[in-house]
Amino acid sequence: MKQIGLYIHLPFCIQKCRYCDFPSWAGREDLRTPYLNALFSELDSYRTEQDNLQVNTIFLGGGTPTLFDGEILVQILEKCKEIFHVKEEAETTIECNPGTTDRGELEILARGGFNRLSIGLQAWQDHHLKNLGRLHNCRQFQETVDWAKQAGFLNISADVIFGLPGQTWKEWRETLEKTAATGITHLSAYSLKIEEGTVFHQWQQQGKLQEMEEEQERSLYHRGTALLRELGFYQYEISNFARPGWESRHNLNYWRNGEYIGCGSSAHSFFKSIRRGNVSDIEQYIQRMKSGQSVIDFWEEIDTHTEVFETLMLGFRLNEGIDKKAFQYRFGFSLNERYGETIEKLKSQGLLMEDAQALRPTSLGLDFQNRIAMAFIN
Ligand code: SF4
Repeated sequence: MKQIGLYIHLPFCIQKCRYCDFPSWAGREDLRTPYLNALFSELDSYRTEQDNLQVNTIFLGGGTPTLFDGEILVQILEKCKEIFHVKEEAETTIECNPGTTDRGELEILARGGFNRLSIGLQAWQDHHLKNLGRLHNCRQFQETVDWAKQAGFLNISADVIFGLPGQTWKEWRETLEKTAATGITHLSAYSLKIEEGTVFHQWQQQGKLQEMEEEQERSLYHRGTALLRELGFYQYEISNFARPGWESRHNLNYWRNGEYIGCGSSAHSFFKSIRRGNVSDIEQYIQRMKSGQSVIDFWEEIDTHTEVFETLMLGFRLNEGIDKKAFQYRFGFSLNERYGETIEKLKSQGLLMEDAQALRPTSLGLDFQNRIAMAFIN
């Protein structure tokens, strides 16, 4: 039986954050019910696949999934379980933002089968949250973690951002220390990227916002990584840190270039050697589903050469690197036979290290992951 991950996209938000270019929309409450109907129809379309698949992880992301009532979110999870063979001990994550859920709702989610909560915090300082366009403060984050624990969630993750305009090391350290102290098990720490189409990008164009200098941004990353280690979080991916045993199984599947199915507007899938994405416009998604048209916006067949490259590119984001036996089993040739010279060169540059089991990036290699990937292409 094929093992896959399942991603469900819920693209609604109360307000668009100033840095956000994710496919999410504010002020479209009127579309929530038709969207759910369309999503359920898309899930139904996988009924014929069900005998050959086993779902290891389910991730309800967004947007802000917790804008939907807990009962509805549980219904979505149950629908997934009705359509697919979901492993009994599957990891089932739901994303939320502080201020959009409460103790009662979190109890409904935990009772209904969700076992992992991923909370968008971003920064501990309320002035940074305000500047980012977030609608919550750090007290509400703390409250959400407390309620989640009381509701029975053991596995709680937080998202934070560094490289914010004007952010100091003292503030970044406070964010990491105080977030870790809430008792979370996992932390994703992303560097702020100013993307086109966002308010931050406009501000940058108008000279009202300046991106942090690369040297300072790298310094926050390195000092933050070292601090997290002291706080008991080990780095298992470039931007992801966990207490041992609490890594995100759903995301590990992406980085191991495993197969996954995504449902909902703009959701991507990698399944049966096809990579594809759904239309991102919510209305179009609903309309197409309603009229029985395909919701697929693009798709490409991934040939073995591309799959090998993608496996290397993604695998070297991980601390565990690439398992040599698993690679040979998947592609029918050994990494050392095919890329012996490249591997030796990268080892001599201090970017890769090797043992009997795996080929791993060094901490320098994690910083220069693209250089490693390019060496393999060339
Ligand atoms: S809550 Fe998340 S998805 Fe929604 S606008 Fe903010 S960053 Fe984007």
